[in-house]
Amino acid sequence: MEDLPREIAETRRELDALDERLAELVRERDEIVRRLIRHKGRAPYDPHREYQIAGADEALWLPLLRRMRISEGARAIAIPPEPGAFPADEFTLIAGPCSVDEHLEATLAGLSDAGVRWARAGAWKPRTFPWSFQGSGMAGLRRLRSAADTHGMKVVSEIVSERDAEEACALVDVVQVGARNCQNFALLKLLAGQEKPVLLKRGPAATIEEWLGAAEYLHGRVPVTLCERGVRGFDPCLRNTLDLAGALLARRLSGYQTIVDPSHGTGVAGLVAPLVLAACAAGLDGAIVEVHARPEESRSDPDQALAIPELRELLARLAATD
Ligand code: PEP
Ligand code: MN
Repeated sequence: MEDLPREIAETRRELDALDERLAELVRERDEIVRRLIRHKGRAPYDPHREYQIAGADEALWLPLLRRMRISEGARAIAIPPEPGAFPADEFTLIAGPCSVDEHLEATLAGLSDAGVRWARAGAWKPRTFPWSFQGSGMAGLRRLRSAADTHGMKVVSEIVSERDAEEACALVDVVQVGARNCQNFALLKLLAGQEKPVLLKRGPAATIEEWLGAAEYLHGRVPVTLCERGVRGFDPCLRNTLDLAGALLARRLSGYQTIVDPSHGTGVAGLVAPLVLAACAAGLDGAIVEVHARPEESRSDPDQALAIPELRELLARLAATD
């Protein structure tokens, strides 16, 4: 700044000071809106009331971009953290097979042995083609619950349909809303009333605003954690492109706990561990990864599954970053 003419430097300082005051005002305003939203409590889903509380408040949504720019200007906007699905202030690792299959019990035993406390596995699988393995449904979810209970593990699993939601919610600790259902508003409204924390995956082509808009359907009713799982890119070498910057920005703009899924975010097992470490280094809240006792025999997504020894190596590297 020393090289600039004094007048320009002075004007820049004035602008910085103004940015800082604006950021402070936005922070204050956010806190008031958040207090209002907290009063929503457990009222039944009522769009009219939603509008009264937050929708009429254009400042909550329209200036998302402006807020982002202010935060870049002031470089320090800090939205207070929201309650999430996982413990605060630690990096949570959730691991398990893509789908409940014949190796589920062996996989969870290996994970538990390695020290993993959160198990994942899909009972209903959203597949591109109808002839691909569709999952084993409620029976599979019961098996997952029971295998996890054997090891005192918690369960994160996807519920794809409103029809199964109530019964399935009783079997999980955290409900996963999959990428394809990120904007399934009927499902989100239903889950808002189920008293289970939700892991909300980002749609493969959802903007950050759309993703955060979807989270608003749950906000104030159940704890929400965001999960960035890769967006659609142009390069077929990668199944998806893990958007680490988008995950950081979503967290910064919303205060939601935010984790990544580098398994679906890349489709490549060899890229999973380095991206988990990157997410941890970037200050994100955790990662969900696919692991299988025999990756090559997995009924879905075998190419992106880590084997148990690979997972152990990742855990050791994570521990070394503490
Ligand atoms: C999954 O985690 O099992 C899954 C299907 O992921 P996504 O919804 O991100 O594709
Ligand atoms: Mn999968």
